[in-house]
Amino acid sequence: MSKEKKDFLRKIVEQDLKSGKYKQVVTRFPPEPNGFPHIGHAKSIVLNFGIAKEYNGICNLRMDDTNPETEDAKYVEALKDAVTWLGFKWSGDVKYTSDYFEQLYIWAQELIKMGKAYVDSLSEDEIKEYRGTVTTKGRRSKYANRSVEENLELLERMKNGEFKEGEHVLRAKIDMSSPNMKMRDPLLYRIKHTPHFRSGTKWHIYPMYDFAHCLSDYIEGITHSFCTLEFENNREVYNWLIETLNLKPPRPYQYEFARLNINYTVMSKRKLLELVEGGYVDGWDDPRMPTIAGLRRRGYTPESIINFCESVGVAKANSVVDVAQLEFAIRDDLNKNAPRVMAILNPLKVVIENYEEKEETLSSPLFPPDIGKPGTQELKFSKIIYIERDDFSENPPKGYFRLTPNQPVRLKYAYIIECTDVIKDENGEIIEIRAKYYKNSKSGQDKSGIKVKSAIQWVEANSAKECEIRIYDRLFKSQNPKGVEDLNPNSLKVVKNALVWPFAIDSKYSHFQFERIGYFVKDNKEFSKEKAIFNKTVSLKDTWAKQQKKEETKEPKNKKPQQKQQSANKEEIAPMSAKEQEIFENLIKSYNLPKVVANIIARDSELLEFFNKSVGFEESCAKTIANFVANEVARELKANKNLKFSPKDIANLAKLIDSEEISVKIAKDVFETIKNSGGDVLEIIEQKGLKQINSKDEILKLIKDIFAKNSDNLQKYKSGNQNLFGFFVGQVLKASKGKANPRLVNELLKEELNKA
Ligand code: ATP
Ligand code: MG
Repeated sequence: MSKEKKDFLRKIVEQDLKSGKYKQVVTRFPPEPNGFPHIGHAKSIVLNFGIAKEYNGICNLRMDDTNPETEDAKYVEALKDAVTWLGFKWSGDVKYTSDYFEQLYIWAQELIKMGKAYVDSLSEDEIKEYRGTVTTKGRRSKYANRSVEENLELLERMKNGEFKEGEHVLRAKIDMSSPNMKMRDPLLYRIKHTPHFRSGTKWHIYPMYDFAHCLSDYIEGITHSFCTLEFENNREVYNWLIETLNLKPPRPYQYEFARLNINYTVMSKRKLLELVEGGYVDGWDDPRMPTIAGLRRRGYTPESIINFCESVGVAKANSVVDVAQLEFAIRDDLNKNAPRVMAILNPLKVVIENYEEKEETLSSPLFPPDIGKPGTQELKFSKIIYIERDDFSENPPKGYFRLTPNQPVRLKYAYIIECTDVIKDENGEIIEIRAKYYKNSKSGQDKSGIKVKSAIQWVEANSAKECEIRIYDRLFKSQNPKGVEDLNPNSLKVVKNALVWPFAIDSKYSHFQFERIGYFVKDNKEFSKEKAIFNKTVSLKDTWAKQQKKEETKEPKNKKPQQKQQSANKEEIAPMSAKEQEIFENLIKSYNLPKVVANIIARDSELLEFFNKSVGFEESCAKTIANFVANEVARELKANKNLKFSPKDIANLAKLIDSEEISVKIAKDVFETIKNSGGDVLEIIEQKGLKQINSKDEILKLIKDIFAKNSDNLQKYKSGNQNLFGFFVGQVLKASKGKANPRLVNELLKEELNKA
């Protein structure tokens, strides 16, 4: 299936088949049914089912149902759904550890008879204390000397419910001084009186993971038992049990791989349950949840999730994957498979006064030419249409390419129009545009000779359908969220009266690209033709980092609340005054500033003053100063009027950046210090040892290290995955704690990657 280098697990499987150790590979996916599966489970599913499929083996779906307190049949259904939806088939019936309770019990008795297990009656705290620490040995409980008969009898009575929870446990008798803490007489059974969702009240003892897992694997004839790295130390117990019980071969072996972690995401069923139970989300399948059901409802496809899991690969060391990589996977899939439709989130009426026909029929392709798929949809055109409110500006800023009183625009797949009048209500709000169209400008046969700067989407008044659009964004605002305190308050916006072409509602497709807006999917729970609801899957481009910066620097005060609410997802552009416009142009002319930066500074007199003073110290560094002012300084000014740092400090930082003595990253670190407590920039850099690394040798050494640690990704890069360049840059910079000169890192990486 994959042409890339085989990961270490596949190599083991191949070796074992070749050597004849096993005739067929048998894997299993062993979730505990205590929550909906998440994208981390998807990785385990793709791995276990994927390997079985690739090597003509089989994979079991086993519910690891050994804790009656947290488990439930509804989670079993969710797990089955997820595996099936991802396109995999388990072998035979769904398996349950609870089906093996009898056999497990017999093995426990056997261990007792061999003198290899005993009933312990220490309290939980005592057990902990007796276990010792990583640096001190443990000591054995006095109950370890009980006779076989006494142990057998106690275990039987535990099973029958004659004791309170916590009164006794069954433990393996291994080694209380083992350097591996897991080997210090691990617990095999504990008492629980909660009824089990399958075995009811039959059992009052439940096997522990360490006891149940290896033996369930053995019962099912598993060959390769893949689990995540945190079980590495459990492997010794796994082997001890199978060996001590003298189980006849073939027997399973455990192998560990890195668990999937994604930034901006929590990935533990416990934390996800908190979100559900606390009402922070709308259930396990809320489209913002990283559950498979949530991703599905969000518009992710099985292919995109499988591709994502494969792109992450199987590694031996834990790392955090950028959520942008997941978003890339779905964009990549939908770009090829989601037909294009025009939709309007925030409609503005346009009356084309010189349109004399009743209506006419135009058409648009379902896919752009580079996708190469056939199909068109009909578009009616008439005198009244709607465009996106943001696509008209009465007083546009520089660089605004859409419709203005002086600037015509093309309606996609239709005509060029020009604004002739702007109609407002008593509050000055624009309610309608009057326009004229150029009859000879029809798309594909344009003879008008008019140059337009952009083409915008539109819908026709009579044909457009109303719909509800739910605009989802990342659920958490921080990269490494701890819990509900890090929720992104803007993760859901509902747009009630959006307009869309009927194709999006009536056609058999469920995923669409709404042109110029993003990818959307029919809501799989609530969509109906009468009440159409679409969920936003992902934006067209990765705008998150940028968007966040903008949010932080944007000045809300001159914005009308209504406008703010209406702006569904695009940046909003408030017009500039004539004075601001002049400053804006001057900034660009004098210092060659990028438009976005000039735009921020020109609109804010305090920022402008700060910028001018700072440039007074280091005129040649104006561009770098401007960047700092438009971002870091702007953010500080908004939060706090009494700045602890001066324009001179920023000029100093800019000078150090421009002369490559420090990186932008370091400058930002220094800024974090001076913004809170002031201080001398040079001294801080000296004190913290923050000077930039400019030595090629040093950087090359970092690069070699990173290559060695990421051989999988290196291989992928070499077999054509150029997207990984950014990954390597990031890793090297991170390894240098942000001190390596990024320009040199880029240069050297390019050379090194293209060498071999
Ligand atoms: P959680 O901490 O989210 O509850 P878990 O590991 O307790 O997860 P299980 O239901 O026991 O969840 O896991 C089933 C299988 O999925 C196990 O083999 C486990 O190793 C694997 N798995 C769980 N989370 C991840 C992850 N983030 N990446 C890869 N595999 C995972
Ligand atoms: Mg668990």
